[in-house]
Amino acid sequence: MDTQMLIGSRFEAGTEAEEHILNPKTGGKIVDLPEASHAQIDAAVDAAEKAFVSWATTTPAERSGYLLRIADAIEKDSDAFAALESLNCGKPINAARNDELPAIVDCWRFFAGAIRSLHAPVAAEYLPGFTSMVRRDPVGIVGSIAPWNYPLMMMAWKLAPAIAGGNTVVFKPSEQTPLTALKMAKLLADILPEGVVNIVLGRGETVGNALINHPKINMVSITGDVATGKKVLAAAAKTVKRTHLELGGKAPVVVFDDADLEAVVSGIRAFGYYNAGQDCTAACRIYAQDGIYEKLVADLSAAVSTIKYNDPDDTQNEIGPLISRRQRDRVASFVERAAEVKHIEITAGGRPGSDDGYFFQPTVVAGATQDDEIVRREVFGPVVSVTRFSDAEQAIGWANDSDYGLASSVWTKDIGKAMKAASRLQYGCTWINTHFMLTTEMPHGGVKQSGYGKDMSIYALEDYTAVRHVMINHG
Ligand code: NAD
Repeated sequence: MDTQMLIGSRFEAGTEAEEHILNPKTGGKIVDLPEASHAQIDAAVDAAEKAFVSWATTTPAERSGYLLRIADAIEKDSDAFAALESLNCGKPINAARNDELPAIVDCWRFFAGAIRSLHAPVAAEYLPGFTSMVRRDPVGIVGSIAPWNYPLMMMAWKLAPAIAGGNTVVFKPSEQTPLTALKMAKLLADILPEGVVNIVLGRGETVGNALINHPKINMVSITGDVATGKKVLAAAAKTVKRTHLELGGKAPVVVFDDADLEAVVSGIRAFGYYNAGQDCTAACRIYAQDGIYEKLVADLSAAVSTIKYNDPDDTQNEIGPLISRRQRDRVASFVERAAEVKHIEITAGGRPGSDDGYFFQPTVVAGATQDDEIVRREVFGPVVSVTRFSDAEQAIGWANDSDYGLASSVWTKDIGKAMKAASRLQYGCTWINTHFMLTTEMPHGGVKQSGYGKDMSIYALEDYTAVRHVMINHG
């Protein structure tokens, strides 16, 4: 197992406090990893600064070649990456191997192509005697900070557009899930020039905080909690850093009476619980119209009770445990508080799912109303609430009545009704008769307190590059 950070071309262990890296399926320790010192963080930033000079002047074709080699190397070793991700996060091996790894490889390949085909207004004489052209240049050194729910995928979403755009990076994985990032350190050091990507370990309040406040870092990209995003913004204000914030979510799912109930139930069973609900786009906040509500609650509760999550044969599991005891206890406390509310009924699950490890039963919370905590706050666990509504206006109003604005979906056979709802929903994404489906060509990112900046798609390359105007005086 790779356990060392990457600073320039050197592999080093941190010299500060150790973090216990745990197996969420058992609670057992995998390894202890010390975090980076201030001197090591500075050395990583210096290595990125030194590498920037030549990396920024490589051609798009050259950088594309590097990204393609990275994609090929991940693909070649994808079983080992999937096994390590599964070990560190508790993900079912099939989800890591068959869903995540191909999407990760595709992300690296997409940006290899995209960087060779950026667009801008045509160069022309917009003032007589002067030719104007637009450039897209790198921003500089990016401090990149990832969460624990999809460690290797978040790394791809952040690193691929950043280095494709000619930036260099200091990357910090979540202190809870650093193992695949450390395996990537080896792979990246074999392929990339020294210092283009540096990887440091540590907690948010120490190493993360040092990165977001570092005077030489030009841009901070972070996926995490809204509270963390606010800290990034406060720190960025001091040196006017560019920021790219992918924060939380609480996705509304509006189900009209005329929806295909079977499709809705199988959709929510899959998209509400995938990754044990530790997903900022999870279909977790259902609004079901009067005519479909009872049947939806009954069928969904029955379907959710069949989700496999703690089978000793991991290939049978559809979801895994939560990431930590703390997260499981947090989820349990949300459900306990919901169960105490008079009009709420827990119609599936509701309790921790095992003695060992951090499992929680896939749970349905029926009868919740708009003001209930379970409808308003991000649970980040395998818990879906169902709320009854009467008319479309009420449903759209409630769906939009949230601090979050990342993802949403609408379920109906009436495409006109669906398009009208989609146009009114204040979310970075609205799916119609599906949920959760991502594709590398399309942007992912939020509005409101879900943050701003896009992952994936050509828009991510725009976020990781600076638009510049060059004007030539013809004399
Ligand atoms: P978190 O905010 O606790 O941590 C995310 C990362 O930020 C970690 O690497 C952490 O070490 C670091 N961090 C924490 N405090 C910091 C500080 N003061 N300064 C600098 N860095 C700091 O979030 P988490 O618990 O790891 O992840 C779960 C959250 O992430 C959820 O709220 C979820 O909705 C969100 N998320 C959002 C998206 C998206 O695309 N919008 C994707 C995945 C997760």
